Amino acid sequence: GATAGVLFKNAEAIEILRSVDTLVVDKTGTLTVGKPKLVTVKPLTELSENEILSLAAALERGSEHPLAAAILAGAEERGIDAHSASEFQSVTGKGVVGSVNGRKVGLGNRALLESLGAAESNADVAEALRAEGQTVMYLAVDGKLAGLLGVADPIKETTPEAIRALHDEGLSLVMLTGDSKTTALAVAKRLGIDDVIAEVLPEQKADAIKKLQAQGKKVAMAGDGINDAPALAQAEVGIAMGTGTDVAMESADITLVKGDLRGIVRARRLSRATIRNIRQNLFWAFVYNAAGVPVAAGILYPFFGILLSPMIAAAAMSFSSVSVIANALRLRMARI
Ligand code: ADP
Ligand code: MG
Repeated sequence: GATAGVLFKNAEAIEILRSVDTLVVDKTGTLTVGKPKLVTVKPLTELSENEILSLAAALERGSEHPLAAAILAGAEERGIDAHSASEFQSVTGKGVVGSVNGRKVGLGNRALLESLGAAESNADVAEALRAEGQTVMYLAVDGKLAGLLGVADPIKETTPEAIRALHDEGLSLVMLTGDSKTTALAVAKRLGIDDVIAEVLPEQKADAIKKLQAQGKKVAMAGDGINDAPALAQAEVGIAMGTGTDVAMESADITLVKGDLRGIVRARRLSRATIRNIRQNLFWAFVYNAAGVPVAAGILYPFFGILLSPMIAAAAMSFSSVSVIANALRLRMARI
């Protein structure tokens, strides 16, 4: 059922969620606003800023990556008409390639740049942008590096509080991303995330989870992309964002309806309150029966002449059930 914006696919997930000590999160989607914004367009050859952006946007029209949305929005904001691309191809975990006006164009990370036969230059410029937390993409045109694009993800107002609440829950936070180490470290530092696993290809994400588990960690993984599905399945608890893809939700045990990680904190608190409530109910039911049944059986009769009329005994028995239910209903008012 749905509780505090949290959808559980199976009851065991509630129990397992309580034992988790490590929460692995994707860089985008979760903790940040999840709406990355284009902040840098840097030509490295004779091509103008507008031309660079127009070529990049032409490729990204065919991509569903959050980075693509940022570039398309950036182009629109600047009133730039995107060229149109043919022979479009999306290279998972690396970028996009295609043909624009007879030129072979690619946009993506260093691995993509190199696969197009282009060499990196001005590496210090890219690295400085990464140190600010920007995701840097290289634009290659006909086998040459033509420019850099930088996208940044603003931090949600509620994030510091969410991180604090997760830490208070005793969870250690790990960022898992295909982005560069420098960018990931910069973002992690700003957010207060404990650890970073960066430059991971999509198919290696499940292995990264396995490695944490081999270190004895109980891992919950939160993700929203199609690529995250194997890692969600590998984790003790897979957590999908309701705002993400259907595939992620299908492979997850839990869905955070509003994509808000604080849902995990609420789910754990509710789970603890539920177990506490069950213990209270068992305790009182036991005490009640331990006292009531012997009285009903006449244990007090020889000494005090007290007998329980069957009618009162039946009423008392029902009252016992009512009190258990009433106690359970208090959970509705639990502050979580
Ligand atoms: P994550 O989901 O962890 O953010 P991905 O595996 O999706 O990372 O991508 C890794 C890197 O590949 C990105 O940081 C980016 O540099 C590049 N990349 C992937 N998809 C695209 C795209 N559509 N356009 C530009 N670059 C991309
Ligand atoms: Mg992703």
